[in-house]
Amino acid sequence: LNSQPSPEESLDPQDWDAFRDLAHHMLDDMLDYQQQVRERLVWQPVPAEVKAFLKRPLPQQPQSHQQVYQDFVENVLPYPMGNIHPRFWGWVMGNGTPFAAMAELLAATMNPNMGGGDHGANYVEIQVVDWLKEMFRYPAEASGLLVSGASMANLVGLTVARNTLAGYDIRQKGLRAGQRQMVLYASQEVHSCVHKAAELLGLGREALRLIPVKQNFEMDLAALERAIAADRADGFQPFCVVGTAGTVNTGALDDLQGIAEICEREGLWFHVDGAIGAVAILAPEVRGCVEGLQRSDSMALDLHKWMYMPFEAGCVLVRSEPAHRNAFSLTPEYLAHAERGLAAGNLWFSDYGLQLTRGFRALKVWMSLKEHGVQKFGRMIRQNMAQAQYLKQQVEASPRLEVMAPVPLNIVCFRYNPGGMDEQMLNRLNQELLIRLHESGIAVPSSTTLHDCYCLRAAITNHRSRREDFEILVQACERLGGEVVAEWLGKAALTR
Ligand SMILES: *Cc1c(COP(=O)(O)O)cnc(C)c1O
Repeated sequence: LNSQPSPEESLDPQDWDAFRDLAHHMLDDMLDYQQQVRERLVWQPVPAEVKAFLKRPLPQQPQSHQQVYQDFVENVLPYPMGNIHPRFWGWVMGNGTPFAAMAELLAATMNPNMGGGDHGANYVEIQVVDWLKEMFRYPAEASGLLVSGASMANLVGLTVARNTLAGYDIRQKGLRAGQRQMVLYASQEVHSCVHKAAELLGLGREALRLIPVKQNFEMDLAALERAIAADRADGFQPFCVVGTAGTVNTGALDDLQGIAEICEREGLWFHVDGAIGAVAILAPEVRGCVEGLQRSDSMALDLHKWMYMPFEAGCVLVRSEPAHRNAFSLTPEYLAHAERGLAAGNLWFSDYGLQLTRGFRALKVWMSLKEHGVQKFGRMIRQNMAQAQYLKQQVEASPRLEVMAPVPLNIVCFRYNPGGMDEQMLNRLNQELLIRLHESGIAVPSSTTLHDCYCLRAAITNHRSRREDFEILVQACERLGGEVVAEWLGKAALTR
């Protein structure tokens, strides 16, 4: 036994036994935290003293593991975003699962770099991408990549579209070498990340033609065809149509079959933003609503939304593997791929996206898909859609609440309307109602504005929600809405 202390330092624990005790304790705390989530408030404001604690200077000297963990338990853990709670329906966010949280621990422990190379983790991601191709009925020779989320997935897909259809070597020459200005199309309801992608691709926001929507918020395809024809006549170069499978505002579904046909006829790239709705393909009763998805040239999807996985987990699929690789592959000497050894492996994910160093997000996806099987995910998605209809019915049945948009998927937009108020007043009333709802910690929907009407918006991608949770939401809206009105009118008689 070497009793001489080593002159070198490392960052491993000095006392493994004490660390092991603490680590077990941390794990137990986190399991309790997940198991008991329903008993806590969804959200509570971060107190001033906690904000102050989180503004301290850079630590120069070590603190004990125990102390650092305690700081977390006291100052961070009690103030969650709330998205793991059964009554969180804000924006579009998944909950994560206990098993996937364990997968994150395993992935962080192995800590591989997923840029490429011949190691186990790389084959896990290849397997996951293959499974996702199967799930979305893409051909086996298609390619794909796990990314941070649908924003990145859309950017990657649209980059491939732009580079493939430019008609010249845009990577070498840049946009300036183009004869005509490239333009693409999406509905007015398209997610903001597609606007950002158009900016980042150097096309500019004006190149993203926003096509009007019909009454149900899906893209008006006649208007799309007119816009394409007008752009061609004016000397622009149309190259892509982005269809949305589940818009962020209302869950509206563009007619993907119709867009696929237009793209085929016009020689355009068909990209689908399926961040919310693509996974509806797993629920046999409703998969018809995303029919046409499998005809796209590329698609973006999110696993951290309606597949309930922990952040971050998104995926891009590209039908043509060569087109995908040609858009991103750039292999300098120091990244040379070998025939044998660790630098082998025929698939380097860094050849298919922006990131070189990448984390092992594939593990939680692989473990979750194995844990439940896709049929279970299909049932959860169907359950959320049934809950959306249930909430819609509850809102319709309430004399003071009203539904503000069709509910084709899992998003319900509604508002409190006691009658006798103008639109401006109703907007203010509902803004105040939403804030009080958040502050109450009872439930967290978010908001949107449809045709100038401010609405509360519940996006149900929550595997923990039960029917009674929606009844609690409706009751809370009635009560808090009534309180606001009573305060405004200065008489309590209006509260129920
Ligand atoms: C959330 C969302 C995005 C962006 O996805 P991130 O995972 O947040 O990057 C894109 N499109 C739609 C329709 C979305 O709902």
